[in-house]
Parts: sequence; structure tokens; C-alpha cells
Amino acid sequence: APALSVRDLRKTYDTGVEALKGVSLDVAPGDFFALLGPNGAGKSTLIGIVSSLVNKTAGEVSVFGVDLHAHRDAAMRLIGLVPQEINFNFFEKPLDILVNYAGFYGIPRSEALPRAEEELKRALLWDKSRTMARTLSGGMKRRLMIARAMMTRPRLLILDEPTAGVDIEIRRGMWQTLKEINAAGTTIILTTHYLEEAESLCRNLAIIDRGAIVEQGPMKSLLAKL
Ligand code: ADP
Ligand code: ADP
Repeated sequence: APALSVRDLRKTYDTGVEALKGVSLDVAPGDFFALLGPNGAGKSTLIGIVSSLVNKTAGEVSVFGVDLHAHRDAAMRLIGLVPQEINFNFFEKPLDILVNYAGFYGIPRSEALPRAEEELKRALLWDKSRTMARTLSGGMKRRLMIARAMMTRPRLLILDEPTAGVDIEIRRGMWQTLKEINAAGTTIILTTHYLEEAESLCRNLAIIDRGAIVEQGPMKSLLAKL
């Protein structure tokens, strides 16, 4: 089954805005997939529906063959989400942030500790594991968000504009962490409005504009058309 399958997804907000006008897409297991589009295209709405934060108006979504509507909890266990805003407690230490997050998902401390070490090392934060989160640089804070989402060992990692508004050095650091996570087998989907970001990271992409997919396919063949 695809890592993510979306069929004729529609969303009309209470305001009457049609944010998604029948979107269909498939993401293969192991892929690094970008959903590229300008502000207001419907990217966050799509991610919100897939991560169960937003109710759909119509359509089907499944994650590794698990129907999101019929088996929401089972589908959500397969997903890790990195939201746009940094939302961990700045007065905690990275190691505690990760272990407590795992605890919230029922992962015992004995299992969480080695996982946290692995994730902090991959995010190049191991030397900061016992430093107050408040003192981390912007790039470190964002990599900590990624490390935290990986604590539940998701098969699909979803990031909503992970690098919006950050400078190129910070973006490159995040890209490196994401590439390592993908190389280790986790499927990644990210939304972005930077073509350069999609180009540096992704094998496949969909371009969304005003609630509809306008192009979809391998990065290479789409670049040739632009
Ligand atoms: P993107 O993530 O690509 O910037 P969004 O999914 O945030 O796009 O927005 C798509 C459209 O839906 C926009 O017109 C936006 O104003 C509208 N929208 C987003 N969230 C809401 C909401 N909670 N209520 C009403 N309209 C919304
Ligand atoms: P950014 O992601 O903000 O560009 P990095 O996380 O790539 O910064 O950090 C680059 C190097 O600078 C790291 O090896 C780190 O040791 C050091 N560094 C950056 N910011 C801080 C900070 N606030 N406190 C301690 N060291 C820092």
C-alpha cells in the first residue's frame, strides 16, 4: 500500500472558502515527497486533515493502507508530525523533552532513553541534551522538533513548512537531518513554498494551487518542464 493515499479530498471551511477542491495523490513507501505551492494553496489544510487536526468535507485518506476515517488511532500511530511553530517547553532540556514526549505516547523511560540518544545524535544535538532548550539556536530548536517527532518511530514523517522564514544555513542543517531520517527508511512528506527546498530534498512532488493539484510526478521530470 502507499505510505499515503488521498482520493478526491475536499474541504470547505465554515467561511465558505474551498481550500481543497478534490485533491488526489499517492506517496510511495520510502519516498521523500514535497507538496509545493504558494501561500493559501491549501497545503496546511491537506496536512491538517491527514494528521486529524482538521475535519474533511469529503474524500478518502489512508496511511499504509489504514483508512484514516475508519481506523483513526491505528493510522495516527504510523504518523509523526512536525508542526510549523516550535512548541516545546523552553525551560526543559532536550533529553527530557524527548523522553517526556515518548512517555505521553506510552513508551517507557527505559526504551525512550536510548531512542532519545539516537535521535539527538542524528539531529546533531547530543552535546546539548542537558542544556536548557531556551539557549539553543533557531536551527537547533527546529532540529529538536524533528527529533521529538521521531521518538514514536513513525513510518511517515510529515512536516508543515519546516523551514518557513529561516535562513539558508539553518535550512541546510535541517535538510541534512531529514535526509538521514529518510535514508534510514522513514517516508517523509513536507510542504514548502521554496522550489529550491523541494529540489534539494525530494524525489517526487505535487504542485498545489488554489486547492487543486496542478502537476505531480518525479522532481526531475517536473524541473524539465519549468
Ligand atoms: P497554505 O498552507 O498552502 O498556505 P492553507 O491550507 O492554510 O494554505 O489555506 C488554504 C485556504 O483556506 C486559504 O484561502 C485560507 O485562507 C483558508 N483557510 C485556512 N484555514 C482556514 C480556517 N481555519 N478557516 C477558514 N479558512 C481557512
Ligand atoms: P544554526 O542552525 O542556528 O545555524 P547550528 O545549530 O548549525 O546553528 O550550530 C552551528 C554551531 O554553532 C554548532 O556546532 C553549535 O555548537 C554552535 N552554536 C550555535 N548556536 C549556539 C548556541 N546558542 N549555543 C551554543 N552553541 C551554539
